[in-house]
Amino acid sequence: MQWKTRGAVGALVLTLAACSQTPTGRSQLTLFSDEEIDQMGEQSFAQYQQQLPTVGGQTADYVQCVAQAITRAADIGESWEVKVFKDDSANAFALPGGHIGVNTGLLDVAENQDQLATVIGHEVAHVLAHHANERVSTQAATQTGLSVLQSAAGIESQGGQQLMGLLGMGAEYGIIKPFSRKQESEADGLGLELMAQAGFDPRASVELWQNMSANSQGQPPVWMSTHPSHGQRIDGLQGQMDRALAAYQQARADGRTPSCQRPG
Ligand SMILES: [Zn+2]
Repeated sequence: MQWKTRGAVGALVLTLAACSQTPTGRSQLTLFSDEEIDQMGEQSFAQYQQQLPTVGGQTADYVQCVAQAITRAADIGESWEVKVFKDDSANAFALPGGHIGVNTGLLDVAENQDQLATVIGHEVAHVLAHHANERVSTQAATQTGLSVLQSAAGIESQGGQQLMGLLGMGAEYGIIKPFSRKQESEADGLGLELMAQAGFDPRASVELWQNMSANSQGQPPVWMSTHPSHGQRIDGLQGQMDRALAAYQQARADGRTPSCQRPG
């Protein structure tokens, strides 16, 4: 694929010129064009679908309903592809190029539409803040990264799996940590804003992370060292809750009152 070699060769040259800013004003390294990153998202999503079976029916409708309310409120188009994957791990991801994946395991942890909106808002926030570009760029700027990108010809290869991780498709809440702490807290804050603007109750974000915490007993210590803890996430969310509640009330007043039916 063209982007692999082009990105790798250009990495050193572009380093100084390729800083951009996240929606929160943080500087970030982005060596790849939107088109290149979107293409990586497309390719990884296609491959992911070959690895896991998808689920349709009411479950898919429910997830689609929540995702669409969020992408609509964020004004980022309504043509996002949403798939539910049959997998017990409580995981979800959103990819550059407009793809959202939710595992069935997450639907056991997220008890209602507002809690599910917390996760989807968080994932979409990673995309809006160009976190995948930042991750892949950071890797590409190192020797390890060069080999990752060059060996990504087959997604089944080690390099291919690593690329999927960099794009946020590893276990977001599991052992493999595709995003940094900074990116996580940024996605938490932006995601909270997105869900509130879509008319989902932002207070549900705290409940979601409490559920996630109860669900992740026995995580190895390495997980804790590379992640913000659930408690830290909850503290961060509560610090932004007043503003989120105001946005939520405004959304409800404006008629954004999503009612997505969770299958029983
Ligand atoms: Zn995240």
